Amino acid sequence: MTDHGAQTAAGIRSVLETFSHTPKAHVQSFGCQLNFCDGEKYKGILQDLGYVLTDTPEDADVILFNACAVRAHAESRVIGRLGALKPIYEKNPRLVVGLCGCMAEEEEVRTLLRKSYPFVKLILGAGAMERLPESLLKVYQGEKRHETLQFAGLPDESLPTVRESGFQASVPVMYGCNNFCTYCIVPYVRGRERSRASAEILKEIEELAASGVSEVMLLGQNVNSYGRGCEGELCFSQLLKEVEKIDGIRRIRFMTSHPKDLSDELIEVMASSEKICDHLHLPVQSGSSRILKLMNRCYSREQYLELVGRLKAAMPDLSLTTDIIVGFPGETEEDIEETISLVEEVKYDNAFTFIYSPRSGTPAAKMPRVMSEEETQKGFDRLLKTVQDCARERVQRFEGRISEALVEGMNEHDASMVTGRLANNLLVHFKGDASMIGSYRRVRLAENKGFYYIGEEV
Ligand code: SAH
Ligand code: SF4
Repeated sequence: MTDHGAQTAAGIRSVLETFSHTPKAHVQSFGCQLNFCDGEKYKGILQDLGYVLTDTPEDADVILFNACAVRAHAESRVIGRLGALKPIYEKNPRLVVGLCGCMAEEEEVRTLLRKSYPFVKLILGAGAMERLPESLLKVYQGEKRHETLQFAGLPDESLPTVRESGFQASVPVMYGCNNFCTYCIVPYVRGRERSRASAEILKEIEELAASGVSEVMLLGQNVNSYGRGCEGELCFSQLLKEVEKIDGIRRIRFMTSHPKDLSDELIEVMASSEKICDHLHLPVQSGSSRILKLMNRCYSREQYLELVGRLKAAMPDLSLTTDIIVGFPGETEEDIEETISLVEEVKYDNAFTFIYSPRSGTPAAKMPRVMSEEETQKGFDRLLKTVQDCARERVQRFEGRISEALVEGMNEHDASMVTGRLANNLLVHFKGDASMIGSYRRVRLAENKGFYYIGEEV
């Protein structure tokens, strides 16, 4: 820790000593897995400063909402939840409420908070995590609101982290994005692509493995361009090969892959690996080449299908999932039909479907829309039904097989069952107890329930 960092931490501790109770902090993350990863770091920083973490905002002295900017609907929900904190603040005026993450980078959001949410005293942009102690101290010293925006570098490698799980961990390999898909706010709120040094990533995974973690998820907006522009650095498939060598790691996952950057080398590494899971999330966004062009996705329907063909030829059991947007400006019903036919052709194991949400500052926000809200909703419903039919059909193919499941937790509805995840990302519920959590079990996928299995340990 720098001298300045140590002084800041000491400043906060001396404030906390004046509390008549144990200081508590509540951190809630919304959005993608990268945001949840950042949330674990916010928790680590607050814990190091002397706060005890709590799940209940009502008894917290610091409440941080770490929120996502990708869609407007999710943002409005966060604003609503921030508003609901006002009575807690009125009871405890020393409470520091903060908004962080990529939502905090948006000028419109900051203006709204300045105007109508005076009790939100701390605003911390995505990538400015290490500035949390400094901002907090400024607020304790009487500043009405402290705002820190984007820090374009990489987060400090020594930031503490409070991991949610002892056996699964997410590890960011890169931050930001250079792709500028025309609908997407991420490059504006998360900045340009920055890759972490592979030595740091591997060191972190080795430490995780030594502490009992057996499954890692490598994260980035576009992991396939990992290392690009970094002299002498590994590329993503080479990084995977190195992770594969780490003892104790049994499963490797990664997200997200941009189709335009998925290399033959990566397919080879996946196909020959014992540890890389047979699941690939490969966002397509649309099945219409015309819309893909307007989206600036840099591939056509035909190129995407050709890539899927190569993946399936190399890995016949591969599970494929995707993201799809409906209602993009200029999209017509014929375009949606093309997306539906692509889903039928690829036969995705699952897909996240989104209704297009205009984000200010992005090129698409200025493009005219063709379909009404009602037509968009109808197209969305038709697409969703196709996605669900495909998913049901795909689950059937493994019924009766014996497969290895990592037990993630107790079943939420039946206390005599546990829930396990298969390498292909499907869930299986089977008889068990809490002592099995974190272990790998061989399970017969006895009964296919549409989107998951009921199994029995063998
Ligand atoms: N980097 C990842 C995705 C990040 S955002 C990738 O390129 O695949 C996650 C998903 O949110 C995207 O795949 C897209 O389907 C959706 N999304 C992004 N911006 C959106 C918007 N403005 N409206 C609706 N969905 C959006
Ligand atoms: Fe957004 Fe496209 Fe970057 Fe994904 S690749 S984060 S969708 S700009």
